[in-house]
Amino acid sequence: LGSFFQPIQQLVQQYNTYQQGQSSVVKLRQLLSTRPEVAEAPGAVDLPRVEGEITFEDVSFGYLPDRPVISDVSLEIRASETVAFVGPTGAGKSTLAKLVTRFYDPSAGRILIDGRDLRDVRIESLRGQLGVVPQEPFLFAGPLRDNIRFATSDASDDRVWEAVRAVGLDEVVERLPDGLDTVVQERGQSLSSGERQLVALARAFLAQPRVLVLDEATSNLDLRSEARIESALDVLLEGRTAILIAHRLSTAMKADRVVVVDEGRIVETGSHDRLVAAGGAYARMYATWTSQAAEAG
Ligand code: ATP
Repeated sequence: LGSFFQPIQQLVQQYNTYQQGQSSVVKLRQLLSTRPEVAEAPGAVDLPRVEGEITFEDVSFGYLPDRPVISDVSLEIRASETVAFVGPTGAGKSTLAKLVTRFYDPSAGRILIDGRDLRDVRIESLRGQLGVVPQEPFLFAGPLRDNIRFATSDASDDRVWEAVRAVGLDEVVERLPDGLDTVVQERGQSLSSGERQLVALARAFLAQPRVLVLDEATSNLDLRSEARIESALDVLLEGRTAILIAHRLSTAMKADRVVVVDEGRIVETGSHDRLVAAGGAYARMYATWTSQAAEAG
């Protein structure tokens, strides 16, 4: 459900119809920063560089009136902690992530970053410290280089290559006819879904955000892409707060803490080992994952 940032995808598609090229990237970024759902408070201030502690205080939210999607969620994520949200489809995992990135505001309660209510800070200064890797990362029609340095358009080729190597995209770039100059299409014919996610990870590596929010792809990735993404994550998680919307056991296991979401509530939280031992909802998901893995051989 609710593929994370579907609205962005739509905007990009509309936008690609009209514009191409580097200067359009700047306009596209401006376009993406405007969202009718959230309004900047008149006295909003710039968020100084954060440590990345995130706190949900009794947060509730619904997309439609009288249809709560998130109910009374309280959660403290420490700076540099990696937290994996797991749970059934439609549980509200992506919605929690959208609230952190301020695509929506809670209808009750508040979300704090380093102790500041998100509604009190300028949206751009918040988003500048967040790196978001959606399930189906958007690419715009243009050179791969510009797609990678989307958030950091002044990055030198050396830095782009550093990011490309750090996330293991180098083999892919070398295979492309024109390397970083290869023009990719928004539908990314030349890149598989796993490779597109690596492009988004390279973007995040370049931007070095304090907080990383990753919505893991649900589609079956080829084993090679999956292995590349796993090692890219090892590099990216280091030293920053991360929220992973995990659909795979291997991703949940990377986290310092697993947060199990069901019907808009947190039903369990703890380390992988502790939750497996506890024999609750997570232990049942773990049993399903391991039996699927055994079947897949
Ligand atoms: P999945 O694992 O399938 O991505 P999820 O746990 O991330 O699921 P959400 O995408 O957060 O779940 O969706 C939670 C609920 O909110 C679902 O009932 C979904 O139908 C609803 N929902 C999500 N996005 C919207 C939207 N833009 N408008 C209305 N309802 C929405």
